[in-house]
Amino acid sequence: PTKEHETLKKKIHNGVVELLYSIKTELNYLKKSNSQEGDTKDAISRLSQQQRSILIDIEDLDQLNNDWKQAESKALRDLVIKRMEYIQNPKDCANAKQLLCKLNKGCGFGCQVHHLTYCFMIAYGTERTLIVESKNWRYEPGGWEVVFKPVSTTCTKTSSTPVGWKGESESKDVQTVHLPIVDGVIKPPPYMPLGIPEDLAPRLFRLHGNPSVWWVGQFMRYLLRPQKWLEDDLLKVEKEFGFENPAVGIQVRRTDKVGTEAAFHGIEEYMKHVAEWFDKCDLRLAKEQAGTKCVRRVYLATDEPNVLPEAVEKYPDYVFISDQAISKSAGLDSRYTKASLRGVVLDIFFLSKCDYLVCTFSSQVCRVAYELMQTLHPDASSFFHSLDDIYYYGGQTGHEQRAVYPHNARPGTNEIDLNVGDILGIAGNHWDGNSKGTNRRTGKVGLYPSHKVEEIIRIVKYPTYPEADS
Ligand code: GDP
Repeated sequence: PTKEHETLKKKIHNGVVELLYSIKTELNYLKKSNSQEGDTKDAISRLSQQQRSILIDIEDLDQLNNDWKQAESKALRDLVIKRMEYIQNPKDCANAKQLLCKLNKGCGFGCQVHHLTYCFMIAYGTERTLIVESKNWRYEPGGWEVVFKPVSTTCTKTSSTPVGWKGESESKDVQTVHLPIVDGVIKPPPYMPLGIPEDLAPRLFRLHGNPSVWWVGQFMRYLLRPQKWLEDDLLKVEKEFGFENPAVGIQVRRTDKVGTEAAFHGIEEYMKHVAEWFDKCDLRLAKEQAGTKCVRRVYLATDEPNVLPEAVEKYPDYVFISDQAISKSAGLDSRYTKASLRGVVLDIFFLSKCDYLVCTFSSQVCRVAYELMQTLHPDASSFFHSLDDIYYYGGQTGHEQRAVYPHNARPGTNEIDLNVGDILGIAGNHWDGNSKGTNRRTGKVGLYPSHKVEEIIRIVKYPTYPEADS
């Protein structure tokens, strides 16, 4: 450890100790002062400022290892891409093992990208070349390859009649397997999210706060390599938008989702977290260069046209960038057959380029953006706030945590007991200090303090493709 390292560590230690002193002071003040609503707000605001200063110290601590992190992140990405290219481009396609994935899942763009990513992970895990069948795709009748680079250059068609997936060992000798959608897959193999490859696990644990999403992101990034014309369009639009970092991305998912798969969230709920992020940005700048402030740039993605005018009116201190504003004036590039494709592609790419995301993880569009974001930073695992679900992957094999501290449920609450070592199946985080889940030992379902558990990451023996590494 260097001197800078130790100094920052002590500063963070003091910061945390001081934070509790301040919480006690504020609580005592509120108790004595016959407090008003405004007093509570002021107290929270002062405490938040104090927390921001600790977060900045932690960022600074992280920054000390930045050169190593950047290099390690690039090395890991390059390694994985080489392996993907190897399995995707067999020399002898006629005899290669293949996995056929059909892009006709009846759902939205994010959902279809997740379908394809799940197929790719299983193809890679079972040492098969992924073949995508996408004729008459709802977002582009010409197929996936009109928009994104083909997933293979040497092997794009099935070489034998596809046989339905029956399980990894059951299908082992079949040349071309057809993988159904995740809801219909029998005997799911271990290569499903949220597992991570054994050989890379030690490196990923050092680098990344959520290796599972890092791993998913690598597959997704490979699949979503834009064709030249789309890449040009993205660059053109970036200029038109005036998109620059730092920026916070918000995705406000409304229309068909509200009341069916998710609750309604007002713009204020999103902007509260956006403001917090920019307040931290300002605090950092104030430290470095007195009197300067961050430009409050927000990329707004939404499927509801009323959201942008509402945001612009209610938040005059912010600069909103949105496809909602531009697509009406710019007209549709003739190479997009469908306007809906352009909207969602732009939104996903720009959200992923933001420095922080505020959205509902119940939406696949936002989860795709978060997954892609992981390929643009050494560790972007904490660059989000979800107003509802925790991160998950549809069809994932169990998300579990392990209790690292004991907990006695408070009487009269929904809390559950924890013994150290108990395994919990987590259902959600209430973002108020508590998570909800099932204690596998007791079978009880309820709340427990989020800080008393750690994540369990499933480590999977994936093929390591030594031929690709050489
Ligand atoms: P989910 O329903 O939000 O989980 O995500 P899906 O990708 O399955 O379906 C959502 C569909 O709604 C997308 O394909 C888009 O057509 C549209 N949509 C949802 N959110 C957005 C958004 O933020 N921007 C744009 N342009 N379209 C969206």
